[in-house]
Parts: sequence; C-alpha cells; structure tokens
Amino acid sequence: MQPFSLVIHGGAGTILKSDMTPELEKAYTNGLQMALNKGFAILENKGTSIDAIRAAITLLEDNILFNAGRGSVFTKKGVQEMDAAIMDGATMGAGSVTGVRNVMNPIELAYEVMTNSNHVFLSGKGANDFAIKRGVKLMPDDYFFSKFRYDQWKEIRDSDNYSLDHTNQDIAELIMKDKKFGTVGAVACDQYGNIAAATSTGGMTNKKYGRIGDSPIIGAGTYANNKTCAISCTGHGEPFIRAVAAHDVNALMEYKGLSLQDAMHEVVHHKLMDLNGEGGMIGVDSNGNTAISFNSAGMYRAMKNSKGESFVGIYK
Ligand code: ASP
Repeated sequence: MQPFSLVIHGGAGTILKSDMTPELEKAYTNGLQMALNKGFAILENKGTSIDAIRAAITLLEDNILFNAGRGSVFTKKGVQEMDAAIMDGATMGAGSVTGVRNVMNPIELAYEVMTNSNHVFLSGKGANDFAIKRGVKLMPDDYFFSKFRYDQWKEIRDSDNYSLDHTNQDIAELIMKDKKFGTVGAVACDQYGNIAAATSTGGMTNKKYGRIGDSPIIGAGTYANNKTCAISCTGHGEPFIRAVAAHDVNALMEYKGLSLQDAMHEVVHHKLMDLNGEGGMIGVDSNGNTAISFNSAGMYRAMKNSKGESFVGIYK
C-alpha cells in the first residue's frame, strides 16, 4: 500500500515550557490532536490530500487559540485581515488570498480561488467579492474577536512596531509571556501518492499598509509539487519571503537530489538563520515521508502516518 501521512502546525517561536501552564498546554495539544485526527480520518478513508489539509486547517482556523480565522491578530487599524494559500502537488494548481475580512475560513476561499477562478492570488475587497460570489461563509467582526489579541494590540497600537503573534501577551488569564507565530498549516500525502500544502494566518499584530507575509505567497510560505515536497511555513514572514523558503526546499530536492529532511534542514538552519528568519516548516514527500524543522524554541506541531506513528509536540 502507498504510505500516507499528515503533518500540521500551529505556529513557531519562543514557546517555553517554563512560560506555559498545564491548562494552556492541554488546550493547545487538544486543538492540534483534533485537527490531526479529522484530517487523518479523511486519508484513512481514501480521501485526497487536499481534502485532508482543508479539514485540518478549518478546525485550527475555528480555534481561537491560533492566529488564523477566528482569533486572528489585529492590524494597525484594529481589524482582522487574513491571508491563506493552498497548493495541489499533483496538478501544481494553487489558490491564495490576502487581506480578506470576515471570511470564516480563509482556507476555503483559497480553495475556491484554486478550483473556481482563472487566477492564483486575489486580494482585499476583490477577494471578498469573490467570497460572496462563491457563497463562502462570512461572519461578523465579533466572531473574530479575542480579548487577549485585542490587549496585545492595544499595547503597541500607538507605536510603529508590529509584532509577532503572542509577544508579551496574556492568554486567557494564563499569563504566558512567550513569543511565537500563531499561523496554522498542514501538509499531506494521500493513498494515491498525491501531496498538498496549505497555510492560513492573521499575519502580524499591528501590521499596516496592507502588509502581506509569506503565508499566502506561493513558493515563500506554501508550496507543493508531487515530484518533490509539500511545505507549509511559519515564522517571521519577511525573511521567509526573501529566502523563497518553501520553494527553496523543492529546488534542493529537485536539482540537487537532497532528501526532504536534509533540504528542510538546510533552508531552516542555514538560509533562514543567515537572514535572522526565526520560525520553521513542515513537509511531506510523495512516498509519505514527513519532516518538521524549526530554529525557534518551540513549534506547535503534530503528525500521523499509515505506519501507525503519531506525535504531538510543542517544545524543542
Ligand atoms: N508567517 C506569518 C506572517 O509573517 C506569521 C506566522 O507564521 O505566524 O504573516
């Protein structure tokens, strides 16, 4: 049987056990486990990698703990503008959206762009108009509101700073002074040997001027090609864009013959670190091999495969 596998992430950064409470740790672990189970069940039932990653990401977007969909961070103007991308390694079809508002599941809008538009990347109002046209579910502003991200934004809104998600914030009274990136992502290999990648995020707190991170940029934060790998990144988006991080893994595999693990290690621990690019990535190849690599203190992550291996982790 063709091996199949799913890997997900919920952001990377300075996530230290010493800053975590047992309650919060459990909430994150449960959130990851539920998303992993939902996506993996689709693979087990002979579903596609695309459907598995959509299902996993949708649950993470609905979970207020993660900076994607509900619970997204606030921009300089005090609103949520979300980015998402999905790519199908079998066809190399891709769909992305940036700066969308009130879309309950931005990953579903990215999927609509991939499957029902003649385009790859839609932005802002136009992307929202397309959401309405395609009947993608919208929600009022209140739905996306979370007190801890609002307080986090209030601390820096009068400055020109923009910050990584969860920097100096107090999550649900559980005081976790960490620095992490709360973006969510998923990569999968299905029973047909097809691979796919997706990433969804609210971006960075206090972002302005329509700032776009790496997540929705095909090749930077998200990439998939059956010949090589499916990759979803998380971290400080600007260095990931400059490193064209996800595609760089593909290039090392395609042109230099590196394995998934070695190619990811090279990009995360050399190329990105040389650019001060804190964060990490998850990957699969079409043989169902999985890899997770990060240069930060922690990364919310989980994987499961058809060999019966399964893992949920937070710290290094
Ligand atoms: N990479 C995302 C961005 O820069 C942030 C994150 O991964 O949390 O928008």
